[in-house]
Amino acid sequence: MTLPYSTVDRSWDVIVAGGGTAGAMAGIAAARTGARVLVVEAQGSLGGTGTNAWVTPLMRNVSGGENLNRGLTDDLKARLAARGDGATDPGGNDNWFNPEGMKVVLEHMLLESGGEVLYHTHVVQPVLDGDRIAALVVHNKGGLQALRAAAFIDATGDADVAALSGVPMRGGDEDGVHQAMSLRFTLAGVDTARLCAFLREHGQWQDSPQFLHFWMVWGKGSTLEPVFRQAISAGVLLERDGDYFQGFSVPGRPGEISFNCPRIRPDLHDGADPWQLSAAQVDGREAIDRLTAFCRAFLPGCQSAFIGVIAPMVGIRESRRIIGDYTLTLEDILDCARFDDSICRNHYPVDIHSVRGGERLLHDREGSAPYFAKDAYHEIPFRCLVPVGVQNLLVPGRAASSTFEAQSSIRVQQNCHSMGEAAGIAAAWAAASHRGHVRRVPTDDLRHELRRRGGVV
Ligand SMILES: Cc1cc2nc3c(=O)[nH]c(=O)nc-3n(C[C@H](O)[C@H](O)[C@H](O)COP(=O)(O)OP(=O)(O)OC[C@H]3O[C@@H](n4cnc5c(N)ncnc54)[C@H](O)[C@@H]3O)c2cc1C
Repeated sequence: MTLPYSTVDRSWDVIVAGGGTAGAMAGIAAARTGARVLVVEAQGSLGGTGTNAWVTPLMRNVSGGENLNRGLTDDLKARLAARGDGATDPGGNDNWFNPEGMKVVLEHMLLESGGEVLYHTHVVQPVLDGDRIAALVVHNKGGLQALRAAAFIDATGDADVAALSGVPMRGGDEDGVHQAMSLRFTLAGVDTARLCAFLREHGQWQDSPQFLHFWMVWGKGSTLEPVFRQAISAGVLLERDGDYFQGFSVPGRPGEISFNCPRIRPDLHDGADPWQLSAAQVDGREAIDRLTAFCRAFLPGCQSAFIGVIAPMVGIRESRRIIGDYTLTLEDILDCARFDDSICRNHYPVDIHSVRGGERLLHDREGSAPYFAKDAYHEIPFRCLVPVGVQNLLVPGRAASSTFEAQSSIRVQQNCHSMGEAAGIAAAWAAASHRGHVRRVPTDDLRHELRRRGGVV
């Protein structure tokens, strides 16, 4: 039989499908472990949702005042800060960053570690040999080609490789309804000093014009709600434009505000459905035009603002999630569960952006569960990255094995970094010593190695 693809002459120890938030870190960590690594990325830069979907800043993940994600994340933050693309605010939050700078930094980190990258290339099909993946078929300008490795990491966010390998999946809540998608954008040409003064006058506390953060969500007591009502009466905004509105400053980009919105139409919630994904891009761009008109007309300081960026990637909070050797639950989070094979600590709230309206946010200041203590955290076990039924594959990032509620907490970027770092080291070891079998990696040694690299485990 003639296969419809050619097999590339070379092979690698580890291939990472998707060089996004988790995948870039996985590639860097595997390369620093001595593996021959190839990162295959659909877009033209690394960083995924953190760069191409323009999701900034990193959400804080602290316990007892200490960052829980260190290791490679510290290296990334230091490099961003050194080039003016990362910043620490007066409150000590070191998570502000410029996505365009992050693209450059991640690429340096991968290449200087000896890793390789293949951009503008989609992974389309695994080639299975029993319960192992032998190769990934990719599509790019060269047509269809098979790339071989001993171990694979699926960091596509949507678990494309795992799904196509027959790994059982979950998706969405109990009704299969996913979290809302958003298409992020920026406005440039903003007089941030004027905007800051307006926000302060309108009861939205601001640190300084360099670190603006403002928001409006219907029914959550935002002081901007009356302004939104006016804009709807004036026909500038639609009611749903107020389902979620949030703006942030961006280091290294004076006069520019990054918006964590618009939220995409509620019937378009499945980011793994290509038709919905495409329609979301269209819906988002229309909403960005409305929000731009709103800001110009109703927010002082934005009169001369113009669209700086429309993210090339729709922001997908949750789509497919693998069923792995362990499934993290809401109870694990609230009870501060500990695991022998823990690779990451998390204290971010359960944060569900529901297409049914509003946001369900369990904050660390509410409730009586152990997780609500200031110095609490739960752990994420390595087994959440190990998909059922395949021996040489790991799945770090937002598609790791978890319930809908648990995923909404662990999905933030810094946890994806930590999961990616652990997956990279483990895949490199699996390739070197265990013919790619990830379940044979000694997790005590993995934890020790993560700690040696500065990780909090
Ligand atoms: C709108 C929105 C706002 C958010 N807000 C915050 C926030 O403020 N702070 C925070 O910390 N977190 C936030 N998050 C969560 C966080 O950004 C994501 O959960 C996280 O970045 C996901 O990382 P990942 O590695 O799993 O996926 P991604 O970063 O999306 O990486 C997946 C990568 O795989 C590539 N890819 C996909 N399919 C293929 C394929 N078949 N072949 C080749 N490449 C492929 C993609 O191009 C991408 O580069 C937000 C998320 C969204 C969507």
